[in-house]
Amino acid sequence: MARNTDPSCKQCRREGDKLFLKGARCESDKCAMERRPYAPGEHGRGRIKETEYLLQLREKQKAKRIYGVLERQFRRYYGKASRQQGITGENLLFLLESRLDNVVYRGGLASSRKDARQMVRHGHVTVKGRKVNIPSFQVKEGDVVELKEKSKEIVRVLQAVRFAEGRPVVPWLKVDVEKRRIEVISQPKREDIELPVKEHLIVELYSK
Ligand code: SF4
Repeated sequence: MARNTDPSCKQCRREGDKLFLKGARCESDKCAMERRPYAPGEHGRGRIKETEYLLQLREKQKAKRIYGVLERQFRRYYGKASRQQGITGENLLFLLESRLDNVVYRGGLASSRKDARQMVRHGHVTVKGRKVNIPSFQVKEGDVVELKEKSKEIVRVLQAVRFAEGRPVVPWLKVDVEKRRIEVISQPKREDIELPVKEHLIVELYSK
């Protein structure tokens, strides 16, 4: 399956924001955004004229990069969000947040979404007791996401659990870290989603 293979830190520098794509490194002073907080490339430090289109484009790119979604799939999410009742931008974020790889990350069982995606792909994760190896699988209220018995103590999980200790609790998930178990107790609300993205600009871009 196609995925974004651009170097993670370059993606942050391109967006001018920390997108937290690399787990523990993002919290350390090795973070490229701390050292070189300007766009990559020869003209990275040059002045860019901030047009309306550019601002909208940047927000869309940011959301895509944070969730590790490519353009075609992102458009599909947008299409689905626009057909749902409610505010399209918020619907879009709810769909992205409900991805299985994101839930594994938010629940603290992986140190980044990329890591979570790989864990799902490699068959470490179950939903309601059944193996699911599709990172984009949409979890629903009442679903229980767990790690397989043999995967509960693998090094990457132990590291992720340690890394997640200080992270704020996500109100729509009930996490039992010891059991490596995440229960989806409600749909996320916009205020529950901590994200440096202005979703209305994405809607404006796609509505043109
Ligand atoms: Fe982004 Fe993390 Fe790299 Fe920092 S370390 S630039 S937050 S991916």
